Amino acid sequence: MLQDSVGEVTTKYHALSVPLSLECGVSLSGVKIAYECYGRADGKNVILVCHPLTGDAHAAGFHKGDAKPGWWDGIIGPGKALDTNRYCVIAANVLGGCKGSTGPSSIDPATGKPYGTTFPVITIRDMVHAEHQLLEDLGISELYAVIGGSMGGMQAMQWSVEFPAFVRRVVCIAAAGYTTPMHIAFGAVGRAAIMSDPEWNGGEYPAERKPTHGLSLARMMAHITYLSDESMRTKFGRRLQKLDTFGYGFETEFSVESYLQHQGETFVERFDPNSYLYITRAVDYYDLTKNGSLTDGLAGTEAKFLIISVSSDWLYPPYLSQEIMLALTTNGREARYAEIVSPHGHDGFLLEHAQLNYIVGQFLTPMIVEDLMTNNPPSIQETASIREAAELMIGHEINHLPVVLEDGVLSGIVTSWDIAKSVAGDFKSLAEIMTKDVITIQRSDSLRLAASLMEKHAISALPVVDDSNRVLGMLTSETLSLTEVLQ
Ligand code: SAM
Repeated sequence: MLQDSVGEVTTKYHALSVPLSLECGVSLSGVKIAYECYGRADGKNVILVCHPLTGDAHAAGFHKGDAKPGWWDGIIGPGKALDTNRYCVIAANVLGGCKGSTGPSSIDPATGKPYGTTFPVITIRDMVHAEHQLLEDLGISELYAVIGGSMGGMQAMQWSVEFPAFVRRVVCIAAAGYTTPMHIAFGAVGRAAIMSDPEWNGGEYPAERKPTHGLSLARMMAHITYLSDESMRTKFGRRLQKLDTFGYGFETEFSVESYLQHQGETFVERFDPNSYLYITRAVDYYDLTKNGSLTDGLAGTEAKFLIISVSSDWLYPPYLSQEIMLALTTNGREARYAEIVSPHGHDGFLLEHAQLNYIVGQFLTPMIVEDLMTNNPPSIQETASIREAAELMIGHEINHLPVVLEDGVLSGIVTSWDIAKSVAGDFKSLAEIMTKDVITIQRSDSLRLAASLMEKHAISALPVVDDSNRVLGMLTSETLSLTEVLQ
């Protein structure tokens, strides 16, 4: 698979054409959404990427002068799972964010000052409604897919509930159908760290005097939940950062301490403390269950789903993805489940590009006959002898030989079984032993169709033909099973 970059990209800003009716009852006008767009839209090929808690609209490619690409560059680009040669990929910063979309650090037009805590409390549903309005304003009336991990996965699931007819495929990674008490608990500690920082000042702080201490603590704590026991052992062990022996004090000594501190310090440079409060609160409220049932909550969905978990994720363990699967399949939805095998914990969805490219790529762009067939296979004319057919099959080590007319049009098929039959029955010509009613397939057909035809007719190869029944290739059950394609 060609792994390439979308190249240099820029963030765009869009003012929503209508006010947003928020779940808390407030109507919020003048909402601006920051977004990036990669690939060309054709009306049916738009994929929306939803970002996790502290992500942004810069999901792929490079901003001018940057050495580091967007946060999900590993799976977005030409030839990658979110193939920008095929799809138009749009990523937007969430409502309530601080990376260009309207949030608590934006200026309230009514006061001319930042909203701070006067910003209305938002939910994952509100974020999704903002994204929907953005797409409508951009003239997009359906989504080929919506995809996200963690809080992005929550948005993707919420999309399927809020706008069932708008979204055709949903990819939800490392998330759940509702926020767990454990996650709410971590959110509460993070918010307490921010709000107990004197600089927070009830949410009113100047840009140059943010409650960085509290925000840094919140990030340090949250970051632990994104890792795993194994990844921390591997990455840090019990190593000391600078000293050879214990310092017998309370300065930063262990590598893991130093790492977390660094994470906290760099985070405050790129994130707004009030945004952190609002977004974590939105996550707390996320709950797709209805009457306590996720099955009821997902009953109105229409999309096809791919639900992915990460084996070592203890923040959103695989059982939570399996709960979604159970609810979807109980509702008769088409849903596929995959577990990324990774030691990286929750962060696995941002790091395991190879597995994601394969799993997500297969779901979004299933392989077709063309991808697996052998091109220009040997063939034989009806006038040839049985011996010539046998020699050709032995020479090419094949069991199936298409029989063609002079212009390459398929007229039959001969297999090694037919050759054996000719010996036993003393047949003399190819026409006597070949099968005339050949089961064929076309290059753009699905592998699922190919597999079901082979099973139904108890055959192990299909000639691939064009509209004029000319032989283009062969597809064998051997190749099919080698790729483990069960689409
Ligand atoms: N082992 C066989 C195979 O590999 O296809 C299946 C057993 S069946 C008894 C063999 C018969 O199926 C042969 O007479 C062969 O000509 C026929 N056959 C094989 N592929 C076919 C196809 N694509 N369409 C129709 N007949 C086919």
